[in-house]
Amino acid sequence: EPGLVIIGAGHAGGAAAAFLRQYGWKGGITLLGEEPGLPYQRPPLSKAWLKGEATAESLLLRPARFYAQYAIETRLGTTAVAIDRAAQVVRLGDGTALPYARLILATGAAPRRLGLAGEAFANVLTLRHAADADALARVLGPGRRLAIIGAGYIGLEVAASARALGGAAVVIEREARVLARVAGLALSGFLAAQHRARGVEILTGAGVEAIEGRDGLATGLLLQDGRRLGCDAVLVGVGAAPNEAMALAAGLDAGGGVAVDLAARTSDPLIYAIGDCTRRPLPLYGREVRLESVPNAIEQAKQAAADICGRPPPLPEVPWFWSDQYELRLQMAGLAFDPAEAVLRGDPDSASFAVFHLDAAQRVLAVEAVNAPADFMAGRVMVAKQMQVAPAALRDPAQSLKDLCA
Ligand code: FAD
Repeated sequence: EPGLVIIGAGHAGGAAAAFLRQYGWKGGITLLGEEPGLPYQRPPLSKAWLKGEATAESLLLRPARFYAQYAIETRLGTTAVAIDRAAQVVRLGDGTALPYARLILATGAAPRRLGLAGEAFANVLTLRHAADADALARVLGPGRRLAIIGAGYIGLEVAASARALGGAAVVIEREARVLARVAGLALSGFLAAQHRARGVEILTGAGVEAIEGRDGLATGLLLQDGRRLGCDAVLVGVGAAPNEAMALAAGLDAGGGVAVDLAARTSDPLIYAIGDCTRRPLPLYGREVRLESVPNAIEQAKQAAADICGRPPPLPEVPWFWSDQYELRLQMAGLAFDPAEAVLRGDPDSASFAVFHLDAAQRVLAVEAVNAPADFMAGRVMVAKQMQVAPAALRDPAQSLKDLCA
C-alpha cells in the first residue's frame, strides 16, 4: 500500500523522515535523493570540510544503520521528474512511478548563475553539494588565487577557508557592502575589516562584465569599470533559487518558493513542502519569507511530521542562523524588518560584541552576535517575547541581559 514519499534527501528531507518515526508514523517512508549519498550537513562544505578538517562520515546527518533500524527506505541517485496529483504518483527519471499516500517536497535550492560570458569555463564553480566542495577544494591552496563573485555568507566563508589553506582570495560585490542582504551595517563593516586584515581583497560596488579565459579555463575577470583581475578559479556565490519547477508544473501554489502554512501544508492537502524550497509565514513579523538555514529546515520538518502524525504544530519559532569565519562565530536571531535603531553592546575591536536591532517602539527585532553566545541567547528570547528594551540597558555592560529576559 502506498506510503509516505519524501522528494529530496537533504537536511529537511532527512530530518522529516526521522521526526515521522519519532512521532509514530507507522506506514512506509521512502526518501528519494538525487545525490549519491545519505543526507548530510552542508554548512561544513564552506568551512571545516573545505579546509580538510572534517571526514565524510562526520558530515552525515545520521549513520547508515539509522535508516535500516527505522525502516526508512532510501533511494539515492534517484531523480523525481514529475508529480501526478490525479494519479497520486511521483514519476521518476528511470521511467517508473512511485505511488504516495502523502508526499513531502524537500528539494532545496540551486545556486543562481549570472549569465555572464565565460561562466561555462570548467573552473567557474558554485557551491551547494559535497561534489561541488570537492571540486572547489582542488583549486585552493598556496599560490592559487580564487575570485569570488558575491559577498554573501558562502562567499565570505570560502574566502576565509581559501586564506586558511594558504591561497589568495578576492571578493567582488555589486552592493556597497558585504552581506548587504542579510546583515546590518555594523556587522558588515566589522566583517569586511576582518577579512581585509587577513589578506582578502574585497571590492564593493563592483560589477562583473565577463569571465575571461582560454582553453576552457577562466583566467580572470573583466569588471564593468574596465578593471581586470587575474585568478586561477572563480566561485559564483550569488544566492540560490528554490527548486520548485516540479511543484509549479503540478499546479501547486508556488513561485518564489512553494507556498506553505505553519504546518508545512501546500495547496494540496496530501502534499507538504519543507526547507529551502518553500515560502512560509513568519507570524512574529506578519510576513511571508523564504528562509535558507538548517534551523528552518529542521523546524519545517517538525511541522510536517507533526501534522502528518496528528500532533499539534510546534510553537512559532524565532528564525536563527550562524556562520563561522576564521575564529569568529556569528550568530543571528530574528530578522530586522523596518529597524529604527541599532544598538551596539560590547566592543568590535575586542571581536566580541552584539548588535540589537529595535523597531520604533524599542521592541527587539533581531540580534547579531560575534563571539558573544550569551548575548545571542538573551537576544533570541527578547525577539521571541517582542520585548521592549531601553537602548541604554542593552549598551550597559554591567546590565545582565539574562536578568532582563527573566
Ligand atoms: P538541501 O539540503 O539542499 O537538500 C535538497 C536535496 O534535494 C538535495 O540533495 C537535492 O539534490 C535533492 N533534490 C532536489 N530535487 C530533487 C529531485 N527532483 N529528485 C530527487 N532529489 C532532489 N545554514 C545554516 O543554518 N548555517 C550555515 O552555516 C550554513 N552554511 C551553509 C554553507 C553552504 C556551503 C551551503 C550550500 C548551505 C549552508 N547553509 C547553512 C544552508 C543549509 O545548508 C540549507 O538551508 C539546508 O541544507 C536546507 O535543507 P533542504 O533539505 O531544504 O535543502
